[in-house]
Amino acid sequence: MTTIVYSDKYYCDIGLHVFPSQKYRLVYAMLERNGKLASDAVQVLEPRVPTREELKLVHDEQYLDDVLNARMTPATFSSELPVKRDVVDAFLLSTGGTLVAAESAAAVGGSINLGGGYHHAFADHAEGFCFFNDVAIACLKLLKGKKASRIAIVDCDLHQGNGTAYIFRDEPDVFTFSIHQERNYPIKQRSDLDIGLDDGVGDAEYLEKLGGAIEQIRNGFRPDFVFYLAGADPFKEDQLGSLLLTHDGFHRRDDMVIGTFCGAKVPLCVVLAGGYSHDVADTVRIHYNTCLRLFDEDTD
Ligand SMILES: [Zn+2]
Repeated sequence: MTTIVYSDKYYCDIGLHVFPSQKYRLVYAMLERNGKLASDAVQVLEPRVPTREELKLVHDEQYLDDVLNARMTPATFSSELPVKRDVVDAFLLSTGGTLVAAESAAAVGGSINLGGGYHHAFADHAEGFCFFNDVAIACLKLLKGKKASRIAIVDCDLHQGNGTAYIFRDEPDVFTFSIHQERNYPIKQRSDLDIGLDDGVGDAEYLEKLGGAIEQIRNGFRPDFVFYLAGADPFKEDQLGSLLLTHDGFHRRDDMVIGTFCGAKVPLCVVLAGGYSHDVADTVRIHYNTCLRLFDEDTD
C-alpha cells in the first residue's frame, strides 16, 4: 500500500514568480487522468493544518507569531515569497501534508506528499521559498511518538538543505544528507554528509556519488525511517541550477533511493521540494515519474 497526500489548496497565487505553485495540482491531475489513483494499492489522503504544538517542535514562538499572522518582518520577508495570509496558509497545509504522509509511511511503508520539502526554513526565519521546515517537524514528531528512532533525510534537491542541516546539527537520531550543486544558493550549513557537485555534473557522476552515499547511509547509519526530498531542480533545463540530469537520470535516481529503502522494508516518505524547469511540464513529469516509481514498490 502506498499513500499519496494532496489538496487543491496547496495552490496559491504568488504572482509572477519562478516557483511554479501550480505544479502540485498538475502532478495530481496527471495521476488522476492516467488512472494511477484508481488502484487498491494507492490510498489518497487529505492533509491537515499542523497544530501550533507541532510547529513548535522546530520553530520559535516569535517567528510563528509573525509568519502565522502574515506579518512582514526580516524573518518572514527572507522567504522571497509574498507574506500574505493565503500564501502562508497554502504552505502551512502542505507542511501538514508531510506530517500526514510521514504518519502513513510509518504505518503502511511508503507515502508521498505532493508538496513539502521546504528545507531552507530555519527555526527562527524563512528562506528560499520556505516558511516551515516540514520534514524537520515530521522527524521530531515521529521520534517523539516513537514511530521511528533513527531517521535519515536523503535530500536530492539541487540546493543544499541548509535549514534542515542546521536544525539537526546536534541531533544524533537524525542523519542529514544533501547532494547539491556546490556553487549555488544557499550559504551552506554542515549536514552529516554533504556532496557538493561541480557545475555541469550529469547523470553518471551524480548517480555514482549518490550510490555511494546511499550505501553509507543504509549500512552505516542504518535508519528505520527515511525522508526523500525528490527535488526536480537538478534537471538539465532548470532555471535556477547548472546540473545536467536527464529524465533517465531521474528514473535511475528514484530507483536507487526508493528501491534501496523500500526493498529493505524501511518506511519511506517522499516530498517534492524544488523544480524550476523552463517548461513546467518537465518538472511535472519528473515528480509524476517519482510517484509511479513509488507506486510500483510493494511496501507491504
Ligand atoms: Zn531547490
